[in-house]
Amino acid sequence: MEVVIVGAHQTESAGRRATTFLVDGRLAIDAGNLAAALTLEEQRSLDAVLLTHYHYDHIRDFPSVAFSRWGYATLSVYCLPAVRDALRSSFFNGVLWPKLEEVPSRDVPALRFCDVAPYRSVDVAGYRVTPAPANHSAPAVGFLVERAGRSVFYTSDTHGGVAGLWEEVQPDLLLVEVTFPNRLDSVAVDAKHLTPARLGVELEAYRAIHGRLPQVAAIHRNAEYEEEIVAELAALGDRLGAPIDAPEDGRRYVL
Ligand SMILES: [Zn+2]
Ligand SMILES: [Zn+2]
Repeated sequence: MEVVIVGAHQTESAGRRATTFLVDGRLAIDAGNLAAALTLEEQRSLDAVLLTHYHYDHIRDFPSVAFSRWGYATLSVYCLPAVRDALRSSFFNGVLWPKLEEVPSRDVPALRFCDVAPYRSVDVAGYRVTPAPANHSAPAVGFLVERAGRSVFYTSDTHGGVAGLWEEVQPDLLLVEVTFPNRLDSVAVDAKHLTPARLGVELEAYRAIHGRLPQVAAIHRNAEYEEEIVAELAALGDRLGAPIDAPEDGRRYVL
């Protein structure tokens, strides 16, 4: 399984892309900066998009990528009903963007929503996809993606502290959000994000259950504080005896 970190940041700026991942070039997880990462042909051959939640930094390119399926095979998007409803009313409403669930025909539309629910696994193009609850300021799920004995879990935006989560997931690669440095803990609390210190609590809970840590990559870093976050992640890795990656955009993991 190949996982590409298309965007490892909370927002886009020159040289930095917003949160987006690609699994084997077939599944996209979130779509903050998905369009520029794929040729038109690659957009049209995507098997599905998994959306964790409706915040703009995670869906920004989704209307554009869905539009590219007009006249081609339907693009399936897996998300919570609340995310589906928000996208229908805010983007695919015939005002900001076409109603892509109805064109070019209702039989073969450009876009099709597939509802997901926490801990209900679904088969997506041969991948076992299991949504998992996230503790965020909007309805959100993380996704465990498994195939041929290899797996990646992406937490979604989360403040952590989800009861029972670490019993349920044991991935080869853990993509976890770390948005703010430790000194902005109160901001992280308000916005329901993680800091390196709070990530440390999550990883200790994981290790207490499984006896080891997976490969960990901290993403969704706020560019304003990136140097601080990366330094604090390095210190956390030293304390835990396990390095924590702060991957650059475009980094490939082969699992
Ligand atoms: Zn969010
Ligand atoms: Zn976000």
